[in-house]
Amino acid sequence: MGKQVVQVKLAPTLEQSQALAATLLAVNGAANWTSRTAFAHGVPREYELRKRTYAELRTEHGLGSQVAQLVIKKTCHAYATIAGLIKAGRLQGKPAEKARSKPVEFRPDAAQAFDDRCLSWQYDTRTISIWTLEGRMRGIPFTGHPDHLKVLAAHRKGESDLVFRNGNWYLIATVEVPDAEQHTRPVDFLGVDMGIANIATTSDGDNYAGAGLRRYRRRMAKVRAELQAKGTKSAKRKLKARSRREARAVKDNNHRIAKQLVGSAERTGRGIGIEDLAGIRDRVRLPAAQRGELNSWSFHQLQTFIAYKAKRAGVPVAVVDARNTSRRCPRCGHTAKANRPNRNHFNCVGCGLAGPADLVAAVNIRHRARTTWAVVNQPIVADTPQPAADTSDKPRTSVRDS
Ligand SMILES: [Zn+2]
Repeated sequence: MGKQVVQVKLAPTLEQSQALAATLLAVNGAANWTSRTAFAHGVPREYELRKRTYAELRTEHGLGSQVAQLVIKKTCHAYATIAGLIKAGRLQGKPAEKARSKPVEFRPDAAQAFDDRCLSWQYDTRTISIWTLEGRMRGIPFTGHPDHLKVLAAHRKGESDLVFRNGNWYLIATVEVPDAEQHTRPVDFLGVDMGIANIATTSDGDNYAGAGLRRYRRRMAKVRAELQAKGTKSAKRKLKARSRREARAVKDNNHRIAKQLVGSAERTGRGIGIEDLAGIRDRVRLPAAQRGELNSWSFHQLQTFIAYKAKRAGVPVAVVDARNTSRRCPRCGHTAKANRPNRNHFNCVGCGLAGPADLVAAVNIRHRARTTWAVVNQPIVADTPQPAADTSDKPRTSVRDS
């Protein structure tokens, strides 16, 4: 079972938006009062805190029964989170002391969880109805990615967070998607090479370019430098918004690539072979100017997306050793630095096989994935031909002999 979140954007009328704003403000005000009460009583357990606050949250703060419970829960959760951070040593010294010395405080527009008793979803009309201070607000439209909406309708479960960000309203819902049964006997593997020029290249010869994204990031880097030079408060704010937007662009791109890779493997009954990340870090050495342009977290994110989408689709993933995947000849096995005359080209000094370097790497990854999978998953029987021993698979079309 894979837990994920799905975000939808709300499209409230002005009146609805005002009711939501007033509600979020009131709920966080109530949470701050609850937090102070908790602090004054040595941060009691949820049950104890409920006894001390519930009635007043209902009468003085005007919260509905369920929302009052959720506010108490949110307060307890915040204290537990801080205690956990201190215990884990992630909050130490002065900041830890500071956190312990005063009540937890919520921003006036902090996110608030709503559960099925105070928030309901009408998927057919794409609207929600939600508890507000001014009573139940019905028919608030929501929009989202068609794929997300499908998942939402089928698998949403439990609480959703109401979030106000950059002047817009969102609901972040939790979905629990059952994993497909993994097929343990893939007919083959789709090798995926990750790199800078092409974010991903497959052993089928498909490229997932990052060119547009790189251009975008370069432009952003320039704007960022300008804003940084200004150093004003509004420049800092703009900077923050920009880096958020940038991260979102990378994330969207990685989602799209992962979806296409997994879809392609799924349709053809194959598994996916990827390199271990340490190898990528090693191999992708960038000139200083490009560093940070597309760094290892982006690869890590792509791998994470591939892993969970594959799991959901039942597509096996083999993580392979990345050593020499860009120097080894997939036809004759000759491995040499000289096989790679420059960043983009492969040219085997042994047998003359030539082609784009990333495609050659992807083909090598495919080989290794097959071998790895065979070793890990097949019973060792002397006369069973192992897929790894199969040397007939020549790299595809765009690798040519020269
Ligand atoms: Zn060769």
